[in-house]
Amino acid sequence: MRLGEKPGTVVGLAAAALLFVGGSVPGSVSGSSTGTRTVPPPTAAPTPTPTPSAPPLKDFQRPVTDCAKHKCVALTFDDGPGDHTARLLDMLAAADAKVTFFVVGEQAVHYPDLILREVEEGHEVGNHTWHHTQLDRSSIARIHKEIDGTSKAIERILGFKPTLMRPPYGATDARVAKIAKSRGLAEIIWSVDTDDWRDRNSSIVARRAIRGLRPGAIILLHDIHPTTVDAVPAILKAAKKRGLTLATVTDLLGGNPKPGKKYMGE
Ligand SMILES: [Zn+2]
Repeated sequence: MRLGEKPGTVVGLAAAALLFVGGSVPGSVSGSSTGTRTVPPPTAAPTPTPTPSAPPLKDFQRPVTDCAKHKCVALTFDDGPGDHTARLLDMLAAADAKVTFFVVGEQAVHYPDLILREVEEGHEVGNHTWHHTQLDRSSIARIHKEIDGTSKAIERILGFKPTLMRPPYGATDARVAKIAKSRGLAEIIWSVDTDDWRDRNSSIVARRAIRGLRPGAIILLHDIHPTTVDAVPAILKAAKKRGLTLATVTDLLGGNPKPGKKYMGE
């Protein structure tokens, strides 16, 4: 979707995608099952089937993985979307892996189609500020601007606000926590840092991520680096071999991360 297109396009896509995956669309079932429609007399002309009302795109954020039953690990990709995100999404789809993208506002507005695709394919989108700003060194007014601007940009694309945020550099303080709480955002840090921004070498990045694969881990990666995207197939393969399920952060945290709370991963 390009900027400026009507949100109806988004909802239409959502409905189409949901039908495609075989889910039932509320409103597409026979009206008689609701008990609210009068059965027409036999002589009446058939009532045209009403266009099913499309479910909100937010339905795509529903829990997909029960991490109480599966051994889950969360891969997180920051700072995008970018030129390599589409390729990453193809890899994730092929492996049926769900991940979380912490997007920066200034990138989100350039790649609305990718933000949409991320959510439609079962991934989660979180707030990573507008300019990748170090929030613990920012004024309260600036923190508001960085967080709210990004949540609004995401809402304009998806129709709903994110419920997760990741402060850039993991740098947060009590003011950030308070604002996050007031905005319904949980703060998500990480337990495994691949340093993929520094070492642009896919074998090194894969090795660090694979070493960190354990239930409850939150692994930090960046989808703006082609070397990181190149490392992903090996990480997915290793996770599968160890019986780990790649899940979104919200699913990893049991489906209900608490606003204002900071999560570090296991
Ligand atoms: Zn970042």
